[in-house]
Amino acid sequence: MSLNTKRLQKPVLPYNVHCKSCTTTLTRQDAQTGKILKIQDEMFHKSCLKCSVCQKTLGVTPCYPVHAFSSVFRCADCHRAATSPKCHACKLPTFEKCVSAFNAYWHESCFKCRWCKKPFKRQEYVVHDGGAYDEDCYYRVVEKIDMSNTRIKIVQHD
Ligand SMILES: [Zn+2]
Ligand SMILES: [Zn+2]
Ligand SMILES: [Zn+2]
Ligand SMILES: [Zn+2]
Repeated sequence: MSLNTKRLQKPVLPYNVHCKSCTTTLTRQDAQTGKILKIQDEMFHKSCLKCSVCQKTLGVTPCYPVHAFSSVFRCADCHRAATSPKCHACKLPTFEKCVSAFNAYWHESCFKCRWCKKPFKRQEYVVHDGGAYDEDCYYRVVEKIDMSNTRIKIVQHD
């Protein structure tokens, strides 16, 4: 074999670079076949970079470090989920559409009377024991006052 037939390949990466995730040494071949991803000065196999929450392979999709300078990442969805406030009722992330009431966040659809599960009329509610009740249910169920009778009386007086 003559020297001419031997292709000289420049090393693309230093030899002591490891995939931050699986700790295997990254090879020139990995680099040449586009299998390596560099994020924040750390090298990863594309296939090794998974969302730390849903385990989806991140590949080239935008990904977010769990903490600043962390080499643990989340996909955009899981990042959004982790950083948005949790709904006080169902404990799931609220994302954009949410109601803020008595120092808690709620999905619009979750913010309803704890007793009758109906949404509040005019956003009027009474807070009791960490839950929100519409006036009727609050007086009837919590205070045990039958408001329907009271109302009838008021109407009659008018
Ligand atoms: Zn790896
Ligand atoms: Zn994810
Ligand atoms: Zn909810
Ligand atoms: Zn109610």
